[in-house]
Amino acid sequence: MIPATTFAGRRIAIFGMGRSGISTFRSLAAGGATVFAWDDGESSRSAAEADGLALTDLSGIDWQTIDSLVLAPGVPLTHPQPHWTVNRAREAGVEIIGDIEIFARERAALAPHAPFIAITGTNGKSTTTALIAHVLRASGRDVQMGGNIGVPILSLEPPAQSRFHVIEMSSYQIDLTPTLNPSVGILLNVSADHIDRHGTFENYAAIKARLAECADTAVVSVDDATVAAIARDLIANHQNAVPLSVQSKLVEGYYFEAGRIYNARDGGRGVVAYLEGLSNLRGIHNAQNVMATYAALDAVGVPAPELGDALKSFPGLAHRLEEIGSRKGVVFVNDSKATNAESASVALASFDRDIFWICGGRAKDGGVSSLSTYFPRISRAYLIGESEDDFAMQLDGHVDFARCGTLEIAVAAAARDAAASRGSEPVVLLAPACASFDQYVSFEKRGDHFRDIVTALPDIELRGDSA
Ligand code: ADP
Repeated sequence: MIPATTFAGRRIAIFGMGRSGISTFRSLAAGGATVFAWDDGESSRSAAEADGLALTDLSGIDWQTIDSLVLAPGVPLTHPQPHWTVNRAREAGVEIIGDIEIFARERAALAPHAPFIAITGTNGKSTTTALIAHVLRASGRDVQMGGNIGVPILSLEPPAQSRFHVIEMSSYQIDLTPTLNPSVGILLNVSADHIDRHGTFENYAAIKARLAECADTAVVSVDDATVAAIARDLIANHQNAVPLSVQSKLVEGYYFEAGRIYNARDGGRGVVAYLEGLSNLRGIHNAQNVMATYAALDAVGVPAPELGDALKSFPGLAHRLEEIGSRKGVVFVNDSKATNAESASVALASFDRDIFWICGGRAKDGGVSSLSTYFPRISRAYLIGESEDDFAMQLDGHVDFARCGTLEIAVAAAARDAAASRGSEPVVLLAPACASFDQYVSFEKRGDHFRDIVTALPDIELRGDSA
């Protein structure tokens, strides 16, 4: 845990008693602050109280006596409208921050040059964060990973000179961290998301851009038009920026070509990493994540040669192109996290052919019609969930499909067809392009169910099985 020593003697309000709120309470109390914490939800309050924390109804406190309000990232700061605690804090001139701001102040006080890598982007944050932490650990470094992934930041060990903090940040968290100054800020991509919470796309993009602007070194993927514009501004402002591209050969930064990652610095002669055959990092999107990893680590003094073979041992994250196993030459892949057409397109793009595609659920606007570029790669689609009729209409005449209703029926049919196919690399791919809520409580439960069904198939060889 990180005791918030920089808040000693202050009076701090916390709103939101989820995991980060509880962690913030303990950190502030350990650092010597007086804490007033509350949540609008009865069940969150009971859970915090059961954890031994004494709560205070923030509607009854004198806000003039409060120094800071720490807001949980899920609580609206601006849109659709500011939470009532935000209004009360503003009226009283109280600063509003998040838990990562407390970390930033502790780092500034304790170890201002300690390596701190912050990662954001609309997609790929968790994979890149986990990958950076993995390769650093494999090279024997002292690594703390958390933030928007795993444990809340204040539950990690405190900043120290040779300790790496690798922190995933959502746009909400960036918005609540005014003195953010990471050693490296990675901005992977920006596409329309969470607009309900940020008002406009421009506002959302500006928040994401701030992570790159306030970093000592910004690592930015210039394949994305929004990020490319941000990169141009960084360079115009003489900021240290390392561009990445999976699409074109760059003269600076890192680029990807024919399964290899190059550092443009040495004229592109040196291959930094080979991605061919790495089934745990399939797809061009993962090439972007790997490039960001190498660029960030180089910027904090860990050059590529020190990372050895660590990419090969990266286990990947559950539900993101997770290879479950294989059977009769057919690979089974769980990408339950593909909850919309855009993320399903990334999954489909990761396999050149012979895809036995399980899709469907609660559809988002546009369904699967935007995926038509990938239709030739699909041998057959297996439709599940409430989108079945819609998707059948959209695929009709373009892709052969079977109406399956449930995941059990879909996996059985896809496994049978794939095994009987003449494809050279058949894959049964769960990439629903839909939310899960018609049949499951979460995409994780949907992916777990897929894994259970596949694991129960006769003669399945699970990934990692030595047999
Ligand atoms: P996040 O934490 O930003 O949601 P994840 O690493 O959990 O990102 O991946 C979310 C989804 O996006 C998955 O379906 C994954 O396959 C896909 N993805 C991963 N990396 C990228 C990337 N660099 N660009 C686009 N999509 C990506």
